[in-house]
Amino acid sequence: MKGTIIEADEGEVFDIELEKDLLQKNKQIAIKNKKMLDENKIIAIDIMGSIGSGKTSLIECLADKLKGKYKIAVLNGDLTTSIDADRVEKHGVNVIQINTGKECHLDANLVKKAIDQLELSNLDLVFIENVGNLICPAEFPLGSSKRLVVISVTEGPYMVIKHPYIFIEADVAVINKIDMAEAMQVNVEGLIKDINQINPKTKVVAISCRNREGIDELIDALDL
Ligand code: MG
Ligand code: ZN
Repeated sequence: MKGTIIEADEGEVFDIELEKDLLQKNKQIAIKNKKMLDENKIIAIDIMGSIGSGKTSLIECLADKLKGKYKIAVLNGDLTTSIDADRVEKHGVNVIQINTGKECHLDANLVKKAIDQLELSNLDLVFIENVGNLICPAEFPLGSSKRLVVISVTEGPYMVIKHPYIFIEADVAVINKIDMAEAMQVNVEGLIKDINQINPKTKVVAISCRNREGIDELIDALDL
């Protein structure tokens, strides 16, 4: 580009010291959460993605496919509403709503509070729907076994390259709504290539929840 670019130097961002302390505390609680879940042989999957990428639909779809095999609970992060939790509850799984208020991501402490409410001995699998946001959830591990990022072709062609940090953290990435790719003029192969370039270890699955396409491949990618 030709115009001026201003970049924040390291240490120049306000509150960085405060933030380091906060992230450290979060990490410690996340380690405890992971230990607690491991002791109860529970697999927990942190599902991250923007608002409208299809996180809730994906959970509904996975819950339907897997509820015969696993005892499932869903932790539903949202600023204020229980719209998603109400949807998921209809699929016959145990749902806990986590309202974050003004916080634009889930943190390990909120997840700990939710875990404390669950009957862990009676569970195999926990889906954690993070708050709709592709930026800061990357920095807040929750203690999950795996981190899954969902993007949708309806979000356009630059969702991956504009959010590299979240893909660095992702074990599995889902490209959702591929039934709309042509209409949106978004190249799914291009998105897959972008993800592979950021993190070659991330498993990428292209799916359509609406058409139930790619769901078995996703279940494989999650080792479920
Ligand atoms: Mg949702
Ligand atoms: Zn946030």
